[in-house]
Order: sequence, then structure tokens, then C-alpha cells
Amino acid sequence: MVNLSRTTLRGFATVGALAGFAAMALPNAQAAQTAATATTATTAGTAATAATATPVPIDGQPIVIGNPPAGEGVTTKSSTLNIVRYNRLYKTGPITPSKCREVNVSLRTAAGVDAYISQLFRCTYAEWALPLKQAGAAYKVAPKLVLHSSSSVRSYCGVVNGSTAFFCGYNGKSWIYIPRHVIQNYWGQSPTMARAYATNVLSHEYAHHVQWLTGILGASWQRQRAFSTYAAQMEESRRRELQASCLGSASIGANKRYYPMAGGLYQQWVYVVSNSGDQPGYPRDHGSLKNHRFWSFAGFNASRSYTVAGNCNTWNANSTYVA
Ligand SMILES: [Zn+2]
Repeated sequence: MVNLSRTTLRGFATVGALAGFAAMALPNAQAAQTAATATTATTAGTAATAATATPVPIDGQPIVIGNPPAGEGVTTKSSTLNIVRYNRLYKTGPITPSKCREVNVSLRTAAGVDAYISQLFRCTYAEWALPLKQAGAAYKVAPKLVLHSSSSVRSYCGVVNGSTAFFCGYNGKSWIYIPRHVIQNYWGQSPTMARAYATNVLSHEYAHHVQWLTGILGASWQRQRAFSTYAAQMEESRRRELQASCLGSASIGANKRYYPMAGGLYQQWVYVVSNSGDQPGYPRDHGSLKNHRFWSFAGFNASRSYTVAGNCNTWNANSTYVA
């Protein structure tokens, strides 16, 4: 296992309960927000802070160790550190609608969650293939999807709290970890909310895979380590995370007519993206609720009649938009 001391503990209210709380109910689900390494968390805000709305967890830090698989030409004329801003991904064409419909299944059971997420995963892979190919990335490389019901997960990227969704890229391979029980808990409170959350979290994690394949994720971590101030490091983290939410929302938006992301499901999705983000007293690593909503809509909303990854260049945005 690898210790990653740079990752920060990410939390919302009740973070003290982060060890083994698989049975927790919806109002405490935000405690799921911990770092992608539970073992070496360093900068935790430990004070429990009263939550305002009901925060929706996003994910742990996406960890990268080693290099992604080489594509035909991810590298641009820009330097390694500028690849986050000047990337071929931003010039790619429309994201291909997968034309997949949402799976009509109860998310009460693990089997239901597996059916739901697995299809969305395959559809999201199909959607990103063309833009990734156009970006010169290794577009045929899919992450391995791990749906689990564990209180703790051992990955190549470290030991991670079992209620935290996260991405791990390790020496040319990648994994997406999604805890089933978080989705099942939401289902018990609001089935429509559970569907919206499940759709969003898979899409966000897949977006980290897109960042990884295009060299953005690794470069972003290099940048973060190079910054000398904590404030600058957190801003880098927010650019990375807000972009993942933007790209994830873009893949949802590209397929919205077919899924369909409309009606009550759309309303709940708006709730999810509007209530996800950094909470008072905790590391500012994912972005404010307002900015999370902003970038989610930037991705979701089509430019002309289609959705493009180019809407999601958070490294080209003023600091205000990534606060
Ligand atoms: Zn993320």
C-alpha cells in the first residue's frame, strides 16, 4: 500500500464518525466525504460544523501513481504543467450521446445498484471514446469499475474509507470505486434522489478517468505539489474537481434526451449539483456549492446543439470561478 501524505482529509459535518459507519442515514451521508487515503490524512478540519442544507458527498481525491497509458499524442507543445490548460481535450468535438436509457430498477438492493451503475458505466465509456480519441488519448482503455459494500477499501492508491467514491490511476491502469451502500441509503430516503446521485457520482468519477488519460490529472498533481502555499494547492485541487464535475455533467448532458435526464430526475440532479461542494470548516478542495453548481451546468448545457469537453476548462477561469 502506498501512503500519500499530500492528500487531505475531506469532510463535512460529523467527520468524526468516518470510521465504519456503513449504516448511517441520509442526513449524515456527508460524512462519507473523506480523503482517498484514510491512513495519512493530514490537514483535517476536525471541528464539527453544522451543515446548512443537506450536503451531498462528491468524492475523495483522485490519486495518480505512475503514468497513464500513452495515447497517440496527448502531449502538446505546451509544457507538462500547462497541459491542464492547453489540452487537446478542449478542442474535441461533441460528446457522443450513448443513447442509453436509464436502467429501470430499484436501487434498494446491491444487485439493483450494480445493474444501474454498470450500464451507465458502459454507456459513459462509449460517450467518451470519440473525444478521447480526438484528444490523442488511449481512448480504448477503460477503468475497472469496483462496486463494493465495504467499510474500507484497499486499492493500489491506498486504503480508503468505504463510503467514499474515488478514482485511482496506477501505472497504466485505473479503477473507479463506488460504494453501493451510499446509494442504497439515499434510495431509502428518496428514490429519485438516489438515481440522480448515482448517475452523477459515476459520471464524475469517469471524468477523473478522462482527466487521467489526457494527462490532466497527473499534471495537476504535479502542479499542486509545486505550489508553495496551501491556498494555491487547494485552488489547484478545486480546478481539478470542478472540472471533473463539469466533464461528468457534460457526459450526462450529451445523453439527456435519451436517458432521459428530465422531469423529477432532472430536478433532483439539480439539487445534487447545487448542494455538493466544500463545507465550512473543512478543506477547500472541491469548490464552493455555488461554483460546483456553475461548472456542473457549464458541462451539462449544450453549446449550440451539442455538449463539448471544451466547456470545462477550469484552468482558463478566473480564481473567482474556482473558489
Ligand atoms: Zn472528484
